[in-house]
Amino acid sequence: MKNNNTHDSRFTDKAMPVLFLGHGSPMNAIEENEFSQGWQDIRKKIPKPNAVLCISAHWETNGTQVTAMETPRTIHNFGGFPRQLYNIEYPAPGNPKLAREIKKLITKTDISLDTTWGLDHGCWVVLKHLFPQADIPVIQLSLDTGMPALFHYELARELAALRTKGVLIVGSGNMVHNLGMIAWDKMDEPTYGYDWAQRTNDLLKKLILGNNHAELINYQSLGREMALSAPTPEHFLPLLYTLALQKENETVSIFNDAVVMGSISMTSFMVGNA
Ligand code: ZN
Repeated sequence: MKNNNTHDSRFTDKAMPVLFLGHGSPMNAIEENEFSQGWQDIRKKIPKPNAVLCISAHWETNGTQVTAMETPRTIHNFGGFPRQLYNIEYPAPGNPKLAREIKKLITKTDISLDTTWGLDHGCWVVLKHLFPQADIPVIQLSLDTGMPALFHYELARELAALRTKGVLIVGSGNMVHNLGMIAWDKMDEPTYGYDWAQRTNDLLKKLILGNNHAELINYQSLGREMALSAPTPEHFLPLLYTLALQKENETVSIFNDAVVMGSISMTSFMVGNA
């Protein structure tokens, strides 16, 4: 087995799986439900990473940035939730060295090193269930949402080398996400989805499982129901980061497959044979 001074050598011969996680409501951070259970279950199928790189829907920037502080703060970037949620801290350390490595690795654009962001809820809502002890360093890569989908896919491909260095890459968004159309009158039904949201969820799963990346990159050409499902790009794009890292012989496994609140898909997937 090759050794590598900067990382745990256990993983140098085997690529870490890559995750796309539908994060949904911030309440999932504190609720024990089928989705938080799904995240806890997927954790058991993954080797312990050296670090986590999270691409969250909730960090949109001009240009692409990577967090490079020693101790990222927990960001509570949402409104109208119980106090309990604002009191949550996810005190995982950062990893400035990995941030600098990523800056060197990416040629698609000039990555800026950020020292002001931290960990937003797209990241900690899911990591709280995957790694409750917050003992694994976490960094975030921002979304330059002014750029087209293909830019994000191509940028993500340049992250591939991190997989063999024990870095777990996590895209966190929702493949169907329309906050303006949430079915407030159906909140008592845990998995209620509008027909169009269900159909888009099914279509996207089919394209993902069929390795049809070209159509997914061109998702804005998939018609009216897709447009309703991703009225803005930020919750959709993280899934392209995950898919871009799929190697030819790798399979995709879907979990947490459900539409909730009418217009939010929790559907998540893992790339790679854990
Ligand atoms: Zn979100």
